[in-house]
Order: sequence, then C-alpha cells, then structure tokens
Amino acid sequence: METKPPRGTKDILPPEIRIWQFVEQEAHKHFKSYNFKEIRTPIFEYIELFQRGVGETTEIVMKQMYVFTDNSGRTYVLRPENTASVARALIDNDIFQIAGPKRYYYIGPMFRYEKMQKGRYRQFHQIGLEIFGDEHPAADAEVIAVGYTYLKRINCKNLIVEINSVGCRKCRTTYNYELELFLSKNKDYLCQDCKDRLTRNPLRILDCKNENCINLVKQAPIILDYLCKECKVHFNDVKFYLDRYKISYELNPYLVRGLDYYTKTAFEIKSGELGAQNAVLGGGRYDSLVKELEGPDVCGIGFALGIERVILAMDTSSIKEDVLDYYIVCLTEDAVMYAIEISEGIRKYNYSCEIAYKPTSIRSAMRIANKLNAEKVIILGSDEITNNVVSIKNMITGEQSIIHKNDFLKQL
Ligand code: AMP
Repeated sequence: METKPPRGTKDILPPEIRIWQFVEQEAHKHFKSYNFKEIRTPIFEYIELFQRGVGETTEIVMKQMYVFTDNSGRTYVLRPENTASVARALIDNDIFQIAGPKRYYYIGPMFRYEKMQKGRYRQFHQIGLEIFGDEHPAADAEVIAVGYTYLKRINCKNLIVEINSVGCRKCRTTYNYELELFLSKNKDYLCQDCKDRLTRNPLRILDCKNENCINLVKQAPIILDYLCKECKVHFNDVKFYLDRYKISYELNPYLVRGLDYYTKTAFEIKSGELGAQNAVLGGGRYDSLVKELEGPDVCGIGFALGIERVILAMDTSSIKEDVLDYYIVCLTEDAVMYAIEISEGIRKYNYSCEIAYKPTSIRSAMRIANKLNAEKVIILGSDEITNNVVSIKNMITGEQSIIHKNDFLKQL
C-alpha cells in the first residue's frame, strides 16, 4: 500500500493549516470590503468548457489537463482554472439577465499536469476574483489594487506589480504576424518548445524562461507599438487610475497570459522572495470569453493567485498558533460525566475545550496539555465531584485555584 500522496500534491496539516486559514479568512474579509460575493463551482466540468473557454492551442488544454471519462462515456476535466467555470455558472444561472456589473470571488483547488518544482504543484489552490460587465478602465485598476492590497494585508513581501496590454483581437492579429515573422527569421535561436509554439501561439514565446529565447525576445517587436487607438486609450486610462489607487507598477511589454481569452490589460504581481516561479498573482481583461461560451456579449476582468506561492512569499511570524483555552483532565472514571457537563458550559461561551477521558496522572496530563498549547488545565477527581468545584491551573502564570462550578461558569 502506497502511503505517499500522488506526485505534485501534498497534505496540509497543523500547524501549517493555520496559515491557510488565515489566508482564506483575510480573503473573505478583504473581498467583502470591495463587495465581491463568493461563488463555488464544481471541481470537474465537461471538457468542452476549457477547450472553448481557455483555447485549444494553449499549453493548459494541450498538455496539462487531467481528463477522465465516467460510466456514461462523457469526458470531464478536473478544473485547471476557474474563470471559465465562473463564466459558465453565470450563464447557466441566468445571472447575466440581471442589470449591472457582477463581482465574484472563489477559493479552491485547481489541477494541472505540470513539471514539478518548488512553488509548482499538480493540485494547487487559487484565490481569484472576476468582475463581469464593467468595461471602465478604473475596473482594471481596481482589480489590480484589490490583489495588491490583499497581498500586503497578509504580509507578502517584496511585491512588484507588472502590467502590459495584449491588445484586442484586431491589433493582436497584426502584432502576431510581425512577431511570427521576426521569430521565424531567428528560429535557430529558439528552444524546441518555442519552435513548436511559433505557428500555434507565438505570443507565448515572450513568456519563455529559456535564456536564448529571452535574449531573442528582447529584440522582437513589442505589442505596445501595435495597439489600436481604443486599446491605447484604455491602457493609458488604466495607468491613470492605478495612480489614483496609489499602486506603483512597472511596464513589462513581454508580459502575456497563458490563456487565449485575454484582451487589453494583462498583469502579474511577483515577489522577490521567490525563485524561478516568482509570480504569485496573474490576471487580465477578457472581453470575449462569455460570448465564446455562448453567453451574452459581456466583458470581464479578474485575477487568480496561488495560495502555495503566496505562503512562500509571506512573513508568517505574526500569525498566532492555535491555542486550546481549556484542557480538562479526568483523574477518575467518575469524573468523565462531570467533565462533559463543564465542557459544554465552557463551549457555550465560545471557548475551545478538550477532555482527556482516560484517567491519567497529573504529570502526564500536563505534558499533553503543553503539546496542545493549552492555556488552562482543569483537573477533576473525586474531591472536585464531591464538593462541586473545579481545580484550575493557569499554564501561563502557573497559578492554581479551586472554585465552585457555578462561579466558574458565571465568570466565563
Ligand atoms: P494562472 O492561472 O496560470 O494565471 O496562474 C495564476 C497564479 O496561480 C500564479 O501566479 C501562481 O501563483 C498560481 N499557479 C499557477 N499554476 C500553479 C501551479 N502549478 N502550482 C502552484 N501555483 C500555481
């Protein structure tokens, strides 16, 4: 029997789970303050959703999906990302019939068959958000600002915001042509993967981490020189509003997103704390996704961040460890009933409490209490039952006291 988890997945146990809970709780609070509502979509979807939504020629769809067939013979995919699912859910639930922008966020696992390395897993977890139906450039700036301020809020260090515009279908066609022409002329300098990308998806070559490809790309035409008037104005406005949100950014003309559906604004937030996989958050505008999925002609903008990577970039020192408020130790079998009564009284006041049912010595109970990070230990033996009292030891001050059960519960 294999007890290791599948390659590229990992168990998350205490005390690390505290950090995950903190990251998730702060996300709920932060996104609520910008009036985003949570959405939960299925973990698997029909394969066509991603083929159409993400794009047949993307790496994700071509190489990285976990595909399976069920007993009915239908083919499904463990979701590799969640924007297409959110768009599908809003179409399916007729949410787009309601007027006004739609603002949603999600938290959950995604699955991609990836080459394993630090910060790159096959089951990883994303927090993401989307605004649908708001074409205003201030919405682009707001989405970047929400991501950045959230990362600051959870103590991510050394953050750099990078932005670019990948244009619309119109300007990208001209650019793709020019880029392909330039790269074809210099094909010999490209790595094998990029040679394959050349006709399929030349834009992705801009993102390649191979040193020769990086050097060649530095001489390639840049998309910002090919933007149509509308895309240029939009991009300038996004920068204007980013200044209003007081977000500093760097222009990165080589920044592209891995998925086909992006248009206009593309952005990433990187952390200097990380190595090769330094992007903690990525996103952009996608003006044609909903229509592509047979929904109305509604634009969108959003981002996704990887929880595993964010945790690597965080200063977690101020996240408090779990504390057990009360540990109740039974010295005799008779004490168990008394312990249950007291523990239920304690929990009514929202304090945490665990009972050691099996009669034990005080010495070994104290050892366990320390391991459990207990603040107070209640000791119950025959004397306590007879006199209706509890013996309490404060593990921080060392102070001990005996107090009547009713008084104890009243003072909680
Ligand atoms: P993407 O959906 O590829 O735009 O990625 C958005 C964010 O998700 C990245 O910036 C990473 O933080 C995270 N991410 C993407 N793929 C992985 C992976 N295989 N393992 C861990 N995190 C990932």
